[in-house]
Amino acid sequence: MAVETSEPRVPRVLDPVALRADFPILRQAVHGRPLTYLDSAATSQKPQVVIDAVADYYRDYNANVHRGIYQIAEQATAAYEAARAQVARFINAPHSREVVFARNATEAINLVAYSWGRRNIGRGDQIILTEMEHHANLVPWQLLVQEVDGDLEFIPITDEGILRLDVFEVLLRLRPKLVAFTHVSNTLGTINPVREMVEMAHAVGALVLVDGAQAVPHSPVDVQALGADFYAFSGHKMLGPMGSGALWARTELLEAMPPFLSGGEMIREVHLRRSEFNDVPWKFEAGTPAVGDAIGLGVATEYLLDVGMDAVRAHERELVAYALDVLPREVPGIELYGPLDPDVRAGVVSFNLPDVHPHDVAQVLDRHGIAVRAGHHCTMPLHERLDLSATVRASFSVYSTTADIDVLVAGLKDVQRVFAG
Ligand code: PLP
Repeated sequence: MAVETSEPRVPRVLDPVALRADFPILRQAVHGRPLTYLDSAATSQKPQVVIDAVADYYRDYNANVHRGIYQIAEQATAAYEAARAQVARFINAPHSREVVFARNATEAINLVAYSWGRRNIGRGDQIILTEMEHHANLVPWQLLVQEVDGDLEFIPITDEGILRLDVFEVLLRLRPKLVAFTHVSNTLGTINPVREMVEMAHAVGALVLVDGAQAVPHSPVDVQALGADFYAFSGHKMLGPMGSGALWARTELLEAMPPFLSGGEMIREVHLRRSEFNDVPWKFEAGTPAVGDAIGLGVATEYLLDVGMDAVRAHERELVAYALDVLPREVPGIELYGPLDPDVRAGVVSFNLPDVHPHDVAQVLDRHGIAVRAGHHCTMPLHERLDLSATVRASFSVYSTTADIDVLVAGLKDVQRVFAG
């Protein structure tokens, strides 16, 4: 009997130095120094293939979609729908019709809050969020519960920035209708145990929305394996164009939900006093969509899949481990926030220097060509919880290198020199 042998699977390794050649913006100098871009959590840079895809659309087949009965309109429609299929493949959605294009994660979450939320959350109903949410996954729920007289509860964090699942378990006794939380914290880098939390929430009958804005660009995401009901993310943080993003939700949920925005494109039949709506996902895409941006997002997913999302995660894990090791050793007094274990941490490092305001840190770093974010990173309640007014945040992507972190360390030493005495 023949024995089947298979080649051992060799994990792909990402070479950030080689990949940098794909990102034209990284070739420039800022204040006479090479640009060291450490603000990828705010928005990532775009590879040439994405820039080309958007330019090709506008140059060669710019036309509105789903309506034109002529060649370039059909080409635009085919490319737009192909992008939807690419996004579905990227997150392992079972059907591309479960992917609704949105401008960004904020719009995707608002879609759920307005459409599903206004129909399913009523007086006295509970929604559970966490203390580490970005404002995008907080304010839409505040507005909803204020309107319908519902309630919000929050899963607290430990001082290290880990969700207290023991408290979550107790909160679930309130029988919430929805649990909404971020997959990865944009400030602490914490990777939350989505699968486990989904199982806990489903056990009491709650639906789950996951804010994937900081997860999808940095690690493999399989919405079927995670088991959540809604998954929202932005395209511009995952090498795609600004103005691109998506909501994934199960077909039966989308079909039961009323429209969010209304007008053209999302209808099948319109009469003066009533209308019939289009099928999902188009029911949720009112008006002319951002066609070129969606096409660019599709190309970004292909680019990331070519690199390999396991390799992206391994690369960023290595970077964060390096940063967590070198920063406290080389920069006296630096205070780091978030978990110190790189296994539960994505490529985000927030910190403060003693007696220097984060804005001053960022300004001096800018003179070195280093781009970091300073402020509350749209997580004011989290900063309040940690008793901080602001932090400096360095964040990574596929093109980031340990050399970038070394440049950051040198820049921080200069900040300390400038502000000494
Ligand atoms: N959620 C998280 C965790 C984020 O980090 C961000 C952006 O920083 C958002 C949501 C909102 O993303 P956007 O501004 O693209 O809608």
